[in-house]
Amino acid sequence: MIIVMKTGATERQIQDVEKVLEELGFQTHPIYGAVKTVIGAIGDRRLVEAHSIDHMEGVENIVPIMSPYKLVGRELIHDNTVVKVGDVTIGGEELIVMAGPCAVEDEDQLMSTALKIKEAGAKVLRGGAFKPRTSPYSFQGLEEEGLKLLAEVGRETGLKTVTEVVDTRDVELVSRYADILQVGARSMQNFKLLTECGKSQKPVLLKRGLSATIEEWLMAAEYVVSAGSSNVILCERGIRTFETATRNTLDINAIPVVKELSHLPIIVDPSHATGNWRWVDAASRASIAAGADGLIIEVHPDPSRASSDGQQSLKPDKFANLMKSLKPIAKAVDRAL
Ligand code: PEP
Ligand code: MN
Repeated sequence: MIIVMKTGATERQIQDVEKVLEELGFQTHPIYGAVKTVIGAIGDRRLVEAHSIDHMEGVENIVPIMSPYKLVGRELIHDNTVVKVGDVTIGGEELIVMAGPCAVEDEDQLMSTALKIKEAGAKVLRGGAFKPRTSPYSFQGLEEEGLKLLAEVGRETGLKTVTEVVDTRDVELVSRYADILQVGARSMQNFKLLTECGKSQKPVLLKRGLSATIEEWLMAAEYVVSAGSSNVILCERGIRTFETATRNTLDINAIPVVKELSHLPIIVDPSHATGNWRWVDAASRASIAAGADGLIIEVHPDPSRASSDGQQSLKPDKFANLMKSLKPIAKAVDRAL
């Protein structure tokens, strides 16, 4: 439920309400608005009635929240969340494109990609250092060495960085090097990992699980936010269906549905959604037209030699052309790019 405080409620009154709620075993999340403060409270609603919280000083009213995702749903927070990563904002008017190789391989590969994607207008550099591969015999990533390269190239180019974390024990390490923590599709319901990422206070890019419903995905986001980080960016990356012509099926519907249900920004990964570089352009354009807040696209200078996901990686010049072609679509949906 939410406790709506009166306009002008004092800090003391807000703290008193929070204190009583916490004593009753509630988890509280105050949200300070320009005019009003509301306190998100998670726990047994009957206790609130029994203890007459609605009569405490400064309390205007109490609104129950019906959706299972209390903190990421629109019932509590109506305005869109804009995630700030330094001077990059995700979920505002400007569309944000993240791009880079599936995996960090070496400095040349990463630097040459970074310079090209930056020139084309990308704001965030992606690159996996811990790779959760379907086969234990596939390349598993450069680990800390990869994180170091990513941080170095990010610093030199001025691009923000995003990279996947797959293990709770690595959250602290990855947080030291990257600007955004990526939770991959295979980890979407690793609740311990979600909690650790939330505690880190870093922005989190939360990919949709391979077979996750939108509700399960939003509940996963709820884990991150309830652990302390409200900076979650959702990422639709295709789901598993009966179709085998594409690697996954891009759920375009998820974009307007998530926008209606949640205040969190949503971006699309057309690379993993299609699994083939030839279809990445179409999926990217459709995603922007459908209202996505941005894209994350795999780009590699020499896809035929990529250590992972070369088949779905764009060459830098193709990425630059795609960026140009997105401009009129962005304009048509009142977004800047
Ligand atoms: C990736 O981004 O390279 C990746 C492994 O993505 P996903 O978790 O969506 O499969
Ligand atoms: Mn990949």
